[in-house]
Amino acid sequence: MADENNNQGGSETSSAPAETQRSPRPAGGPRQGGRPGGGGSREGGRKFFRRKKVCKFCTEKIDSINYKDVRLLSQFVAESGKIVPRRLTGVCTQHQRQLSEAIKQARNIALLPFAAGH
Ligand SMILES: [Zn+2]
Repeated sequence: MADENNNQGGSETSSAPAETQRSPRPAGGPRQGGRPGGGGSREGGRKFFRRKKVCKFCTEKIDSINYKDVRLLSQFVAESGKIVPRRLTGVCTQHQRQLSEAIKQARNIALLPFAAGH
């Protein structure tokens, strides 16, 4: 049980924040693994959401993936620290290869974890 109860009287002087709201999630950015929320037509009973078939790097015309771009790389690394298979990300073969190389380099300089909860 939590000790800090919010008394509605307000007579107590406490240094607690006025209202305990649910803290918003830190760090914006595209959510991964989101569910399709209330669309018009649903695709069949697929468990995994389908992305565009073209790979992100091809569409954005990135020919070389910078291993220092953690924000980019982390989009392709699962929470466990594993590289997300390209059938889930839709990245093409060439870019997936570059991506995995970049992720490995990033790991080596400790930008990305090898595995979570180690
Ligand atoms: Zn590509």
